Amino acid sequence: MIVAWRFFPVTVKRLEQLSPTFLRVTFTGDELNFFADNGFDQRIKLIVPIGGTLEHMPTEPGWHAIWRELPDHQRNPVRTYTVRAVRQHLSEVDVDMVVHPGGNGPACEWIASAAVGDAVYLLGPDSRFDGPHGGIDFRLPAQTPAILLAGDETAVPAISSILERLPDSAQGEAILEVPYPADFLTLRAPAGVKVQWYARESAEHGSQLLPAVESAAERLLPQATGETVQDVDIDNQLLWEVPDEPGPGDTVYAWIAAEAGVTKAIRRHLVTERGLDRRRVAFMGYWRLGKAESN
Ligand SMILES: Cc1cc2nc3c(=O)[nH]c(=O)nc-3n(C[C@H](O)[C@H](O)[C@H](O)COP(=O)(O)OP(=O)(O)OC[C@H]3O[C@@H](n4cnc5c(N)ncnc54)[C@H](O)[C@@H]3O)c2cc1C
Repeated sequence: MIVAWRFFPVTVKRLEQLSPTFLRVTFTGDELNFFADNGFDQRIKLIVPIGGTLEHMPTEPGWHAIWRELPDHQRNPVRTYTVRAVRQHLSEVDVDMVVHPGGNGPACEWIASAAVGDAVYLLGPDSRFDGPHGGIDFRLPAQTPAILLAGDETAVPAISSILERLPDSAQGEAILEVPYPADFLTLRAPAGVKVQWYARESAEHGSQLLPAVESAAERLLPQATGETVQDVDIDNQLLWEVPDEPGPGDTVYAWIAAEAGVTKAIRRHLVTERGLDRRRVAFMGYWRLGKAESN
């Protein structure tokens, strides 16, 4: 039976260091001609080998319950990434991975020593499935005067892919905070969407993103009649506030993804101080400082 998501056994075909922070990993695998090319912020899961092996990873239907019961030393870490490009005719999928120096997470460690031929699983959308796959949170409203996209380096792949799939007529701003000026990539975007890069250097996460979003909000959201947002305990709860469908109206549509504490601060500013309708914005904590991803 064909289901929306499935495991794809893949190996690393190419590694391309795009900049100090971004490593493009091109995966290949016999079945990748069935990997759905949905674009936008399509998320997938990377199953990280333990000691070079995936032998204990269950891939059959109901895998999650079996996986959870495995002892720690056999339970392969599962981490979330964004599809950067799909070339079905070549059976290739690109994923742009952030190399964070000093990182001790399993995905980070895998990236640091990744080599051509290394095997992993990707859990991703199957193009043969006749229905929505899920895992896409960007939803362009039928009507919007402007789009605001903002994120840190982990959201650069998603923002890059969203920009590529926007209609030519799209207007708005994309704000990206990365570690270094050398990480400013060349992106393909509609002429009406202004792409702004900021380098954080040794400053804190969000030190550039938050003020840049505040000043974009001043331009894009002139009237401030905000509502108080409920606090989210970002250390114990996922900050993931995404409307199923953007609410009605003719106001800005925003998509924000970054470290959870930074996303939370942006959420407070846009909703409470600038009066952005929460039904017109997706807020996502892509990772949490000091905490490993939990599944
Ligand atoms: C929907 C979605 C899409 C994503 N897409 C991408 C993508 O395309 N490319 C990408 O590189 N990342 C992406 N991420 C972020 C990625 O999943 C996390 O960075 C993940 O935690 C990395 O796993 P890990 O095993 O290295 O670290 P974990 O085991 O999860 O964490 C270990 C430690 O590393 C820290 N850490 C994790 N990520 C970072 C970071 N970026 N910088 C500094 N410290 C960090 C944690 O705070 C923790 O202290 C995405 C996340 C989500 C939710």
